[in-house]
Amino acid sequence: MALETELTELTKKLYGKTIKACSNAQLYDAVLQLTKDRMDSAKLLDGKRKVYYISMEFLIGKLLSNNLINLGIYNELAEVLKANGKDICKIEDAEPEPSLGNGGLGRLAACFLDSIATLGLPGDGIGLNYHYGLFKQVFRKKLQNAEKNDWIEENSWLRKTGTTFKVKFGCGTVTSVLYDIDVIGYENGKNKLHLFDIKTIDESLVQKGITFDKKAVDKNLTLFLYPDDSDVDGNLLRIYQEYFMVSNGAQLIIAEEKAKGHDLHKLDKHVAIQINDTHPSMVIPELIRILTKKEGFTMDEAIKVVSKTCAYTNHTILAEALEKWPLDYLKEVVPQLVPIIKELDKRIKAKYSDPTVQIIDKQKRVHMAHMDIHYGFSVNGVAAIHTEILKDTELNNFYKLYPKKFNNKTNGITFRRWLMACNPELTALLDETIGTEYKKDAFQLEKLLEYKDDKKVLDRIANIKKAKKVALAEYLKKNEKVDIDPESIYDIQIKRMHEYKRQQMNALYIIHKYLEIKGGKTPKRPITFIFGAKAAPAYIIAQDIIHLILVLSDIVNNDPEVSKYMKVVMVENYNVTYAEKLIPACDISEQISLASKEASGTGNMKFMLNGAVTLGTSDGANVEINELVGYENIYIFGEKSDTVIEHYAKADYVSKDFYNKSKVIKEAVDFIVSDEVIKKGNKKNLTRLYNELLNKDWFMTLLDLEDYIKVKDKAFKDYEKRTEWKKKALVNIAKAGFFSSDRTIAEYNRDIWKLK
Ligand SMILES: *Cc1c(COP(=O)(O)O)cnc(C)c1O
Repeated sequence: MALETELTELTKKLYGKTIKACSNAQLYDAVLQLTKDRMDSAKLLDGKRKVYYISMEFLIGKLLSNNLINLGIYNELAEVLKANGKDICKIEDAEPEPSLGNGGLGRLAACFLDSIATLGLPGDGIGLNYHYGLFKQVFRKKLQNAEKNDWIEENSWLRKTGTTFKVKFGCGTVTSVLYDIDVIGYENGKNKLHLFDIKTIDESLVQKGITFDKKAVDKNLTLFLYPDDSDVDGNLLRIYQEYFMVSNGAQLIIAEEKAKGHDLHKLDKHVAIQINDTHPSMVIPELIRILTKKEGFTMDEAIKVVSKTCAYTNHTILAEALEKWPLDYLKEVVPQLVPIIKELDKRIKAKYSDPTVQIIDKQKRVHMAHMDIHYGFSVNGVAAIHTEILKDTELNNFYKLYPKKFNNKTNGITFRRWLMACNPELTALLDETIGTEYKKDAFQLEKLLEYKDDKKVLDRIANIKKAKKVALAEYLKKNEKVDIDPESIYDIQIKRMHEYKRQQMNALYIIHKYLEIKGGKTPKRPITFIFGAKAAPAYIIAQDIIHLILVLSDIVNNDPEVSKYMKVVMVENYNVTYAEKLIPACDISEQISLASKEASGTGNMKFMLNGAVTLGTSDGANVEINELVGYENIYIFGEKSDTVIEHYAKADYVSKDFYNKSKVIKEAVDFIVSDEVIKKGNKKNLTRLYNELLNKDWFMTLLDLEDYIKVKDKAFKDYEKRTEWKKKALVNIAKAGFFSSDRTIAEYNRDIWKLK
């Protein structure tokens, strides 16, 4: 049926109205229905082997525009709506953003699902259906407040299935319900994202903010996503959630295998399970438990087949993030798994005496990553430098045992969302200049290099950037009540708030610039510094950094002398939707983590693809960006990872030495506790942050601050050589093809999953 007829019939049926007469919210519901109907008739992908990507997080973002693009009906629908006086963007705005992830790890899982389906591979996601997901961030008195994020509406992408399982905990049994979200590939078939929920969930448990009765597991289990993606608190509820997810996942996988008539003894021939970080690690003992207790396997048989089925992705080397659950916690939550985990541990202890590779350590803690490495067939890092650090230092003892298990899979991003959906203007220009093949084969973007000296193309890219900057200025005016100048340089740092990502270093630069302007040294062109970041509610220093940035924003933006030259904006409730507005408008992409600490980053890739130039350290995927674009098209500063690792090994970094040595550093750091700042903020937060920087500075901000200032000033200066800068933007776009998640997934398939 023609799209217009179909939509007209739908609006008539739903509201008794024409398209023209519907509100945007009504049209959203109608288009949602239409899109779901179209996806119903898409072919389910299958093959001899299927991958299950298990993850505590799927930061999927709004789905409407992506699904329309992948179904190939976006433009047609936009035309139909336009002919009826409606703007498709307004209809997209009506969709609430699902809140099922913290940051990069969850966003990666979402990009991967898109690419798996796009490559026509059979592969489903398995996760949880958090009702309030990650908290909503609200600023009050220049402090972050956390509120519940009520994202599930009556009509949504979730489809309730009839599937239900029993999951047994130490304290009793709960019943699950399964919701599915269709994942449609770009001009290809369909997979599923399976989100498990509990039948007895009770939303009324949440009283104020995000506080609730943590003990009532049968009512609270899927209320919230643990608001932290790298620090792990010994939290029983988190273990309940993890086990609930993997037990449901294991039962689903076995049910699907049986329905296909497959022999479970050959599970590995038909199934690959990707464990996204250590959170789903209990799927290993859970599968072994089910196979031995319910399917008549011997322990040896079960261990053998599960070990050939499961693969583990490591996402971080931050020690505090590698989960180590006290055995006592596991005894309380999942007593039935404890004998299995002990058996797995016993077998390792019998084979290897090295205490650093044991699953259960002397303090009776279970090292989840160690279990994954011993009893999985693949271990991968997420960027070249990260995998090398795993092999050489963090997991070196394991690498020596199993060199063949280790492999690298540099992260990627889906171009459907991070180019086609968020930047249709740039997409259209690419279509016109290099054709459309790059949409299926991202390396084709390199054809753009032929236009490196073509003034027309360079100007058109620059004009698109300008239009996106104007659009962002309007959006920020409306949403943040702030005026920014589209003629200024947009310098953007958006990512979770964490000391290792060093937003505090950017803040110190801002102080430095403010003091310079106050002293009469004004920049050639105004600069707009934009931040977006949520901090885990229990992460005190991260809250303090947010506070400092909000205070600086108040001081700078309200100083008539200074605000002509700079503005500071911290957007509220940074999420995927916000990222999609900010990234296409960015000139300078801040990727300034302490070298060795950011496993990969994916924000860096999104910015590059949209023609921003990276200002960053030699860390994570920045290293690979640097190799691709060359030193002329990136700004790299700071100490390298080997130097940093050495500082940690020798424990010889003393931040105060840097403070005492440098007038510039001292002035910037002291400003945090100056009268001027304290007058506008909270003495307690600011003093705590000041002391942290001066006496601890675990992520070595002051080590790199001077070089950061130098290189950042150079970038601002270079921005004035307009033609040169436009070329840098073009080269970044042209070289971004490597970072398509289609390439990443093709590699996972080639080396790990072997699905087809
Ligand atoms: C891409 C993305 C991230 C990850 O950003 P990094 O800079 O790689 O940490 C986090 N949050 C959102 C909303 C994203 O879209």
